[in-house]
Parts: sequence; C-alpha cells; structure tokens
Amino acid sequence: MKLSGRLYKQIGNEGEIEICDRISCPNCQSKLVLLPPSFPMADAQCSRCNFRAQVKTTSRSPRSSVRGAGWDIYEKVLKAGYLSPPLIVNFKWKHLKAERQEIRFYPFIPRKNIQKYKLSANAQRANYKMFRYVGLNDLPYFTLFKLNSQKERGKVEI
Ligand SMILES: [Zn+2]
Repeated sequence: MKLSGRLYKQIGNEGEIEICDRISCPNCQSKLVLLPPSFPMADAQCSRCNFRAQVKTTSRSPRSSVRGAGWDIYEKVLKAGYLSPPLIVNFKWKHLKAERQEIRFYPFIPRKNIQKYKLSANAQRANYKMFRYVGLNDLPYFTLFKLNSQKERGKVEI
C-alpha cells in the first residue's frame, strides 16, 4: 500500500501523541510533551529535564530501516557539527491478526546510520530530498514499551 505524504504525517502525529501517553522520560521518568511541528530536529521533550528526541511511528515490525524526514534541515544541523538527536521509534504492526507494539529508544545515531534519498519524480513532493535511518538493528537501544495483545487476549480467554 502506498501512503500519501499527508497520511504519513497524520500517522506520525498520532504516534507522537501516543508516545507521550505511553512512555515517560527515559532519563527522569517525568512526562514527555510534544514540541510544536515547526521545532527543528525534535518532536518530544521532557517536562522536567533536558531530554529531547525525534519520534518516528511506523506500521511495520521492528526493523533496521525507518523513514526519517526532510534532508535539508538535517544536513544543516549535521554540517554545523551537531549530533543527530536521540530517536524513539513507535513500531506498531499486526502479527497473526494480533496488535503488536514496541517502542524503542536509540540514544545515539551515528552519521553512518543516516542515509539520504530522493523521492521519485512521481511523488507528491517530486524529487524531494529525504533521509532514512539505516542499520538500526546494529545500534544499542532501550525497549520502553512492548505490547503483545495475542498473549493478553489468551489470558482473558482462560
Ligand atoms: Zn526527563
């Protein structure tokens, strides 16, 4: 299924709101709050400490490659010598008709795990430069939340 850019954005926003509901700050356990959409390089921050992170939501199982965002701002930040912000990925998918979810936190994303690509000439934003996260399976991460509704439903039925 091919999703339009707007639909992606919508899924993204819902995923960010959900992150703030389901998990607390990985540093101090306080509430996470959303940053305004125009805020560069971060989607959520802690209401108490300095913690900030990018948040990505995907309707696929945990994997190495996750869609990022627009390349141009990212490139400026990297060129200025800043590090890639920590990344939280909200993986939500279905397995054997059961809802599954895993929220992973990647505290450090090296430059080699950022890959630039260009949208096709037929895309809604034709030839737009984007980046994706790659090689995530090789990076250390924290599992912040895990849902296996199949198991939970099994418990209810017994
Ligand atoms: Zn905090």
